[in-house]
Amino acid sequence: GSNYGPLHIFFFPFMAHGHMIPLVDMAKLFAAKGVRTTIITTPLNAPIISKTIEQTKTHQSKEINIQTIKFPNVGVGLPEGCEHSDSVLSTDLFPIFLKATTLMQEPFEQLLLHQRPNCVVADWFFPWTTDSAAKFGIPRLVFHGISFFSLCATKIMSLYKPYNNTCSDSELFVIPNFPGEIKMTRLQVGNFHTKDNVGHNSFWNEAEESEERSYGVVVNSFYELEKDYADHYRNVHGRKAWLCNRNKEEKIFRGNEASIDEHECLKWLDTQTTNSVVYVCFGSAVKFSDSQLLEIAMGLEASGQQFIWVVRKSIQEKGEKWLPEGFEKRMEGKGLIIRGWAPQVLILEHEAIGAFVTHCGWNSTLEAVSAGVPMITWPVGAEQFFNEKLVIEVLKIGVPVGVKKWSYSGVDCCAKWDVVEKAVKMVFAKEELEGMRKRAKVLAQMARRAVEEGGSSDSNLDVLIQELGTLSSLSR
Ligand code: UDP
Repeated sequence: GSNYGPLHIFFFPFMAHGHMIPLVDMAKLFAAKGVRTTIITTPLNAPIISKTIEQTKTHQSKEINIQTIKFPNVGVGLPEGCEHSDSVLSTDLFPIFLKATTLMQEPFEQLLLHQRPNCVVADWFFPWTTDSAAKFGIPRLVFHGISFFSLCATKIMSLYKPYNNTCSDSELFVIPNFPGEIKMTRLQVGNFHTKDNVGHNSFWNEAEESEERSYGVVVNSFYELEKDYADHYRNVHGRKAWLCNRNKEEKIFRGNEASIDEHECLKWLDTQTTNSVVYVCFGSAVKFSDSQLLEIAMGLEASGQQFIWVVRKSIQEKGEKWLPEGFEKRMEGKGLIIRGWAPQVLILEHEAIGAFVTHCGWNSTLEAVSAGVPMITWPVGAEQFFNEKLVIEVLKIGVPVGVKKWSYSGVDCCAKWDVVEKAVKMVFAKEELEGMRKRAKVLAQMARRAVEEGGSSDSNLDVLIQELGTLSSLSR
């Protein structure tokens, strides 16, 4: 778009890893195309983002700036230093956290006034940004952080409530007006598509309404992965949508400081044979109970498979019972427990990794697809049960653990050790795996091609940049 003068775009991610990581990646894609990008965040989140940007270490880093807005946490009853959903320790506080984000509107508008960007790409959790942008005649794009498959399924659930036509919570129904004859139960749908989900009654309606009025949406995905659903979203739901997925060649620091020396972790993987290790991680937000962790440990041991298991727990305290007696001693050399944050993309892309036990968060799912790794699906909440359907029934690159019930944050114990053992054994069983692995590798190749010059995501990005350029030259 050099005909239109340099574009300047604001990116405003919601302060949660699953939102910040992909939106910062997206900002980098725009920067690589010569677009000036500014990431808006709060003071405590700025260092995380600047570290991510620094590690890109290319010419494009200078096209990316960070602007901070003070986060009014203490004034609204949040603890000091609470600027990230990670530090919202109880689910009751989440609505308060959301409310605090709305207080960023005024300083955000000051930034718009002074910098006059050509476009605002803001998270779905910030519905007020559509109005802010409109005040300055700037288009706002929405970023949800979820797949087209889940965007469509969520819309359909809230429109038609198809689970109301079943006799019980566990009876299967077909998702209506949706490609692929996908069946689900009421228990799996949970509350994701309802206003109960955020515990803030007016918020959901406001976000939906704001999305309707926005210029369109950007989705972290690639066309070949969920073609039918991307088409469906654009044609049936009539939304303008662009696909932008990150270039997987960028093996960089993501989100947090890793809790393990990356080299040590990769060196350990180097000692393992190809496709032999199962990687177990449930994203950034799921917090399992000790009893569930215990079952996972027992299941992994019983499977006999080598593993890397990421547990969001610090050093095991005395009397804490989430590991069987003598587990770590017995598993020496066989398994690696990472307490805290794992360098997930590096791990997934190592050739020793043969399968991924995942909660089906969209970022993790897409990272597994891009790395060509088959999945053992263990959805917990949010839109993860939809992603499971995509992985198992549409892409056919996984084995389900068989979780039956959606939950807000995954505190219940829902899979016993023998179920874990069985799923791990199944994914590594030869015939099962060969077909799945082949399909996963094909998808990984498609993911790579999509972001290469002239690939589907790359061209889509060009189209969007072109369009924004035209828009801003018209409004000048
Ligand atoms: N992640 C990571 N190390 C961890 C846990 C998570 O790098 O120990 C990253 C992961 O690669 C992904 C993101 O954090 O990019 C998690 O996003 P996802 O959508 O999978 O799940 P969420 O955390 O939003 O539930």
